[in-house]
Amino acid sequence: MDCIFCKIVERQAPAEIIYEDDAVIAFLDTRPMNFGHTLVIPKCHCENFLELPNNSIPNIFGIAQKVAFAVQDSLQCSGFNLVVNNGKDAGQSVFHFHVHIIPRFSTDSFRFDLNFKRYNPEEIIEIGKKIRNHI
Ligand code: AMP
Ligand code: ZN
Repeated sequence: MDCIFCKIVERQAPAEIIYEDDAVIAFLDTRPMNFGHTLVIPKCHCENFLELPNNSIPNIFGIAQKVAFAVQDSLQCSGFNLVVNNGKDAGQSVFHFHVHIIPRFSTDSFRFDLNFKRYNPEEIIEIGKKIRNHI
């Protein structure tokens, strides 16, 4: 398997590492949306959010919060986006689960130009029912 993030974990590829413990590592994204854009990943390879072992989730998101505090305190950003792209159609390009922490500033000009849809009254009930049936 040729996974760039596994290579970072194994020190076979370079990275500016921010945090590391037995199970999790965080490092700077080399194509940042803003400086300080950080990725938090489990050391074990798993492709995406749905493949994460359920009992690892509190730990990885706990570390993501710790790193987010550090990013915000050190860079004095006024906010950050916490992003997980799951699957190719959702923009995932590295298939080793990762959480993006993207520092945001009032002066940055990013906009997510989304074309929001509208439900009609029956549709919202139908979609709610479909999803509930799979919980
Ligand atoms: P995604 O599109 O959600 O899969 O995000 C993958 C991210 O990994 C992108 O923002 C890339 O810039 C970043 N990335 C890819 N290769 C490396 C690398 N070797 N070191 C640090 N970040 C990387
Ligand atoms: Zn991997």
